[in-house]
Amino acid sequence: MQFSKFGEKFNQYSGITQLMDDLNDGLRTPGAIMLGGGNPAAIPAMIDYFHQASQEMLTSGEWIQALANYDGPQGKDAFVKALAALLKETYGWEVSEKNISLTNGSQSGFFYLFNLLAGTQPDGSHKKILLPLAPEYIGYGDAGIDEDIFVSYHPEIEQLDNRMFKYHVDFEQLKIDDSIAAICASRPTNPTGNVLTDEEIIKLDKLARDNHIPLIIDNAYGVPFPNIIFEEVTPFWNENTILCMSLSKLGLPGVRCGIVIANEAITEALTNMNGIISLAPGSVGPALAHHMIEKGDLLRLSEEVIKPFYQQKSQRAVELLQEAITDPRFRIHKPEGAIFLWLWFDALPITTMELYQRLKARGVLIVPGEYFFIGQEDEWDHAHQCLRMNYVQDDEMMQKGIQIIAEEVQKAYQQG
Ligand code: PLP
Repeated sequence: MQFSKFGEKFNQYSGITQLMDDLNDGLRTPGAIMLGGGNPAAIPAMIDYFHQASQEMLTSGEWIQALANYDGPQGKDAFVKALAALLKETYGWEVSEKNISLTNGSQSGFFYLFNLLAGTQPDGSHKKILLPLAPEYIGYGDAGIDEDIFVSYHPEIEQLDNRMFKYHVDFEQLKIDDSIAAICASRPTNPTGNVLTDEEIIKLDKLARDNHIPLIIDNAYGVPFPNIIFEEVTPFWNENTILCMSLSKLGLPGVRCGIVIANEAITEALTNMNGIISLAPGSVGPALAHHMIEKGDLLRLSEEVIKPFYQQKSQRAVELLQEAITDPRFRIHKPEGAIFLWLWFDALPITTMELYQRLKARGVLIVPGEYFFIGQEDEWDHAHQCLRMNYVQDDEMMQKGIQIIAEEVQKAYQQG
């Protein structure tokens, strides 16, 4: 079969496709210990809430109305307006319905944004998205229609007590010139659980403005929802910021709803792209989220249910790991948010790609760290020494999985 250039690029078996395949297979394989993909936890209180809300919406007719009608290409008006009002009221941001567009999951929002800004320009030049700190979200990696649309930088590593560490943006290294189309960072970061500090965000905002390029902040885990963030940091948006949100980590990945908060030009561009690519984004997620806003439940549940659930889970996972792996070469990135722990095995004699295979053979799925070093030109040992595990499984599964990781890591240190 002859595929186009686009076809060849998007027909590759990328890291993100492997991850989603593992997730899908694992969900159907009895006994598999799923510490890999980013499926959010089935939090009982949230499942009960969605059950009840769906019933209320079925009774009121909102549910069938969402199923039976297309929305406009910008996304459900009622939700976009209610969200704009909520953000204005909560943070004082000058946001109206002209600043919000919806996509079928934020993953497709990133595909739109990266290709809107980076790649071949009308004058024939080539622009890239600058990721100020790699490791960064695996899902960005293959999103460019053109090749080579990312450039990224190693972080500074701050060693912390208790065998923990934290990454920081190394501003000395960042080079911005006409070849950069935008800066992009996830906050909290998938895979590391890092949260860029207020100071780092202010510096990145200034860099972006000084260079007349947007700052894209991926807020899939951030405030005000789903609020899986354990540090006190200031939410950030202005006319030069493109803030991407999602309903997925609220517990609704199946509705595929991404939200982009940006200036009017970007909002209009995304609306036009939606029209061409998908006619309109899906209606069911925005209808449910609108219902949650109307009831005053969206922020309340994020603060009272979702955040404490994940915070407690992350603390427990750290405890289990530190007990099971006593080797001083093992460190954990300080968990500041998101639903993952980032484990660093310094001087590991095998790559984490190899470790992933050995763990998979024993029924434990994690994600090898190599995938997250997107846009790096040089080889870096550290990139082969880290792995990502989620901590959303129940305690028994976590204990079993961590025990197997501990055994395989010990074996690798002893025998290579
Ligand atoms: N951004 C980050 C940082 C993520 O972790 C994810 C999913 O795991 C996404 C974006 C995409 O999420 P979705 O397409 O479900 O909105």
